[in-house]
Amino acid sequence: MPGFFDTKIEFLKGVGPQKAAMLNKELGIFTYGDLLQHYPFRYEDRTRFHKINELNGTMPYAQLRVRLRNTEMIGAQRRKRLVAHFHDDTGEIECVWFQGVPWMAKKLVNGVEYVLYGKPSLFNGKLNIPHPELEIGSQFSLEGGYLQPVYSTTEKLRRKYLDSKGIGQLIRNLLDKSIPHLRETLPPYILAEYALIDKPRAIQHIHIPENNDMLAKAVFRLKFEELFFIQLRLLKLKLARTDKFRGMELTDTSLLTKFYNEHLPFDLTEAQKRVIREIYTDMRSGHQMNRLLQGDVGSGKTIVAFICMLIAAGSGAQSVMMAPTEILANQHFEGLKEYADKMGLHIALLTGSTRKSERKIIHEMLLSGELSILVGTHALIEDVVQFKQLGLAVVDEQHRFGVAQRSKLWQKNKNVYPHVLVMTATPIPRTLAMTLYGDLDVSVIDELPAGRKPIKTVHRYDANRLRVNQFMKDQIDEGRQVYIVYPLIEESEKLDLKHLMDGYESVCRAFPGVPVSIVHGKMKADDKDYEMKRFVKGETKIMVATTVIEVGVNVPNASVMIIENAERFGLAQLHQLRGRVGRGADQSYCILITSYKLSKDGRTRIDTMVRTNNGFEIADTDLQLRGPGDITGTQQSGILDLLISDLAKDGKILQVARTAAQDVLLRDPELTLDDHRNIRYQIENQQKTVVNWSRIS
Ligand code: ADP
Ligand code: MG
Repeated sequence: MPGFFDTKIEFLKGVGPQKAAMLNKELGIFTYGDLLQHYPFRYEDRTRFHKINELNGTMPYAQLRVRLRNTEMIGAQRRKRLVAHFHDDTGEIECVWFQGVPWMAKKLVNGVEYVLYGKPSLFNGKLNIPHPELEIGSQFSLEGGYLQPVYSTTEKLRRKYLDSKGIGQLIRNLLDKSIPHLRETLPPYILAEYALIDKPRAIQHIHIPENNDMLAKAVFRLKFEELFFIQLRLLKLKLARTDKFRGMELTDTSLLTKFYNEHLPFDLTEAQKRVIREIYTDMRSGHQMNRLLQGDVGSGKTIVAFICMLIAAGSGAQSVMMAPTEILANQHFEGLKEYADKMGLHIALLTGSTRKSERKIIHEMLLSGELSILVGTHALIEDVVQFKQLGLAVVDEQHRFGVAQRSKLWQKNKNVYPHVLVMTATPIPRTLAMTLYGDLDVSVIDELPAGRKPIKTVHRYDANRLRVNQFMKDQIDEGRQVYIVYPLIEESEKLDLKHLMDGYESVCRAFPGVPVSIVHGKMKADDKDYEMKRFVKGETKIMVATTVIEVGVNVPNASVMIIENAERFGLAQLHQLRGRVGRGADQSYCILITSYKLSKDGRTRIDTMVRTNNGFEIADTDLQLRGPGDITGTQQSGILDLLISDLAKDGKILQVARTAAQDVLLRDPELTLDDHRNIRYQIENQQKTVVNWSRIS
C-alpha cells in the first residue's frame, strides 16, 4: 500500500514535472520519502560573526557585521559590475555584484551597517566576497534558525534554483505535512535506554535544528537507527543460519593429532592455536560455520586451514580451498600437497587450465570420496564438480569473490551445508568488519611467527635511484631476491605498461648478468606462471611486476620490495605488497619510491607505511583517508549506501547499535513481541525500498 512518503516528488509544492525529473536524475530523489531523507551534510552557524581580518580564501563562508563606506560602478555598459567597500574595526573588504547591479546599487546606502553572508574568495591576490547575502544590520534576525542546513546539490540543479537554499525550501514545504505521517521505528524501551529522541522530532531537527544540542540529538538518533537496522538484519541472518542450517558434525581429531606430533614443521603461535580451537568448536557444533579468518600477511593462515582440513578428513569429509588466481591456487596446492603427502591424503588441483582428461579423473575421485582435498580457482564451484561429502570450504582472499560465488559453495551438499572459512589478509577495521561481515563470526591471528624480523620500510625519491640500485646489488650479492612493482591501472594502462617495460629494460641494463623476470596482467597465464616459477625457484633474482603478485605469493628468499610510483597505490595495497617480503629469516626491506611531488594524502600514506607494520593500524588510516566507500570489496556490497552514518567516524555508535540489536534478538528472535511492532513495520518497509539486501551475504 503506497503511503504518504511514496508520493511522487513532482506533486510537492514548488517542484513540478521538470524539476522532478532533474531531482530524480541528479540526486536520486523520487519521492517525498527520498527528499525527507536528503539530510544536510553540514550546518552553518549564523550566530557567529567574523572580523574582516579573520577572513581567508579557504573558508566555506563568513558572516560579517560591517558598515558601507561607498560603492562604485566599474566597467562598461553590459559588463558593468558593482563594487561596494565595507569596513569594520579590523579592516576593509570589497563585495562585488555582476548581476542585479542597478537594483543592488539602489538598495545600498553609505554609512549603514549591514550583515553580510558569503564566501570570501581571492581575486587578483585580494580577498573579496562576490554576491553576498545582505541584510540591514538593525533588521537582522535569526528567524529561520541560526543553524543553516547545507544540502548537497549539483550544478544542473543550481541552475534551476535548486541550490542548497532551494532544496531547503522544498524540504520546509514538505516537513510540516510530513510530521503527522512519520512513524516511530524503534521500540519505546530502546528510546528510553539509549536516550534517543523520537523520530518526528529527529527529522524536524535534522533539517531545522533549534540549537546545537537538538541537532546533536537528532544526528545521534538517526545514525543509531540506521546502524541498528543494518545490524539487526545481519544478526538475524546469522541467527537464522545457525538455527536452520545444519552443518556436518566434524569431531574426529586423530589425523590432526598425528600431524601435530609427527609432521608439524614449527611450533604454532598462540594466535594460531586459539583460532584453530575457535574453528574446531564451530566444526563440531552441528551448525554450519561461517567464519572470517583475518590475519596479516605471513601470519600463517595456510597451516591453520590445513589443520582444519585434517579435522574434516579425519571425520570422513572432503575439503576445498578456493583461491582468486591461478598462481595462488598453484602455490596453495604445492604448500598443502607437501603436508597432505606426509599424511597420505589425496589432494588435487583444479583450475581453468586443468586438462580435460585430468578433470574427469578428479571428478570421479571426488564423487567416490577418494580425494580428500581439492585446491583450485573458481573452476571448482562449477556445477559439474560434485563431491561425495563436502565438509569444509576455505575461501582465500575473499574480497575477490562475489558473495554469490561463496554461497554457491554451500550448495555442493544437498542436506547439510559445508562449513565455510573465509580467509583474508586485508585487515578490515572493526567497524567495517562488523558491517560487511556482520553475519560472520570473526577470528583474528594477531601475532606473527616468532623470529620474524619486522620489515624495514623507507621512502626514497626518484633522484636516489643510484643508491637504491647499489642496495639491491648488495642484497642480490648476498643471495637475496628483489621485487620491483609498478602501478598498472586500467585508465592509464598503455602508459603504465610502457613504464613497466621501460623499468624492466633499465633494470636489465643496471644489472648486467643478473637474470630478471617480468610478470604483468596482459601476459598469457602460461607465460606468467613460467616466469613466476622461475622466480620462486630462485633462477631469476629480480622480479619486475605489476600488482599481479599482490596476493599471497610466497617466496621466502625475496627480501626486498621496491614499489615504484608508490604514491599511486592505496594503503591497503601497499601493505599487501610489502607483505610479499619478510617471509624468511633474513632482514627484509620495503622501499617506496616517489617523485618529489606528493599530495597531502599521498604523503600520509607513505608516512604511515614507514611508521608501522601493523595491518589494522594501516587499515584504520586507510578508512580515515578514503572513507568506507572506497575500501576494497565494499563498493558492490550496497550496504554502505548509508544516509547519515560514517563508518570511519561512527564506530562507537555502531557498537552501541549492534549491542542494542543483539539485545532485541536475544529477547525476541522472531520479533513477534508487541514491543517490537515498530521494528517489524520498519523492516517490512525498508525491504521494499532502501537497501538491496540480497547483495550481501
Ligand atoms: P599467510 O597468512 O600470509 O597466508 P602463510 O600461511 O603463507 O601466511 O605463512 C607464511 C609463512 O610462515 C609460510 O612459509 C609458513 O610455512 C610459515 N609459518 C606459518 N606458521 C608458522 C609458525 N607458527 N612458525 C613459523 N613459521 C610459520
Ligand atoms: Mg596466504
